[in-house]
Amino acid sequence: MRQILIVEDEVRISAFVEKGLQAKGYITTAVGDSSTAVALALTHQFDLALLDLGLPGEDGFAVLEQWRGQGVNFPVIILTARDEVIDKVAGLRGGADDYVTKPFSFAELLARIEARLRTTTNPGKAKEKMQLQRGDMVLNLRTRKIQIGERMIELPAREFTMAEVFFRHPGQVMSRQQLLDLVWGYDYDPGSNIVDVYVGYLRKKLGNKAIETIRGMGYRLKT
Ligand code: CA
Repeated sequence: MRQILIVEDEVRISAFVEKGLQAKGYITTAVGDSSTAVALALTHQFDLALLDLGLPGEDGFAVLEQWRGQGVNFPVIILTARDEVIDKVAGLRGGADDYVTKPFSFAELLARIEARLRTTTNPGKAKEKMQLQRGDMVLNLRTRKIQIGERMIELPAREFTMAEVFFRHPGQVMSRQQLLDLVWGYDYDPGSNIVDVYVGYLRKKLGNKAIETIRGMGYRLKT
């Protein structure tokens, strides 16, 4: 069983992440402050840590610096509300392996975690799993682009996450609620028609017939 350390002071987010990870069979430990986070990583064995940057007291960068300075070498994925490029670069230089910008969906976070754990345990296999092929479309999880024939399509983060959900459930009808949970997580207005709007965006880019409407049920990626 994989052990994941979650360093996040916002209880709503850390509970959401813990619940999702536990449902996927991970063991989670959540802490909300930097000094506990530093101490815990030195005394316990974790497979990966999720690290919020904005913490009370010392921030996530300071935590990361102390971990790396003391030889803690598990992969670290930064969770950040600050989407300025400069912070991301600083985080990756400071020894983080990846970052996810808040608000994030659980599907996106899980994909990043799984990619990280695959790379650390089985480097040979990491490459082939970075691509999902459905029909003539190839979704690349590393470059976060979709290739259709000679055409290379770049998608904004949320559209890419939705495409990834469809690619991971080929031939399966996805209800609006499933798409909301997987793509938006806690971050959506339940009354909105946002799923339909985003399916429209994807159709514009992947082709009108790429996603079928199944009346009264939801949507399905055409394979
Ligand atoms: Ca925070």
